[in-house]
Amino acid sequence: MDWLERAAKLRQWTRSGTRAPHKPLLLLYALGRFQADADGGLRYTAVEKDLQRLLTAYEYRCTFCGYDGRIGAVPVGLEAAHVRWWALGGPDEVENGLCLCSLHHKLFDKGVLGVDDGQRILVSQRFVGHSPAAREHVTALAGRPLIGPQPGARPVAAAHLDWHARQVFHGEPRPATAV
Ligand SMILES: [Zn+2]
Repeated sequence: MDWLERAAKLRQWTRSGTRAPHKPLLLLYALGRFQADADGGLRYTAVEKDLQRLLTAYEYRCTFCGYDGRIGAVPVGLEAAHVRWWALGGPDEVENGLCLCSLHHKLFDKGVLGVDDGQRILVSQRFVGHSPAAREHVTALAGRPLIGPQPGARPVAAAHLDWHARQVFHGEPRPATAV
């Protein structure tokens, strides 16, 4: 198996042995819907239930910034992120997932963003961005509480957050007041 093929198979959401590409899951979900409409067959049925549980738990909003963009009724720019990476044993469960916008998913996977044991957002001191956009969308998040999950839904598990903090998050977090 070449590296391109291996990379393409990393961190996929699974259910009952059926896998769909991890990113962008919502686009694939939407495509599956459209395909169902077109030819009567939904290709991603196996992952749909897990996705729906996670995205419903977070009410189709980025848990870091609250972004909830849609095209018509279809969410766009929102993704289901594994906290403990799938390729490293992370389960496909609501307790191991976060609903994130595309930017914050990228920064979470790169270790710029994390979540502390009080369910507040961590921003790495190694992240540098002086533009108003970088401050607004990244550094200003330090110390903010997560948005969601809704009451009754299980929050992300402390064990998976701890794994992410140790294995993915870069360096020391910024103080909550450093905006
Ligand atoms: Zn976001």
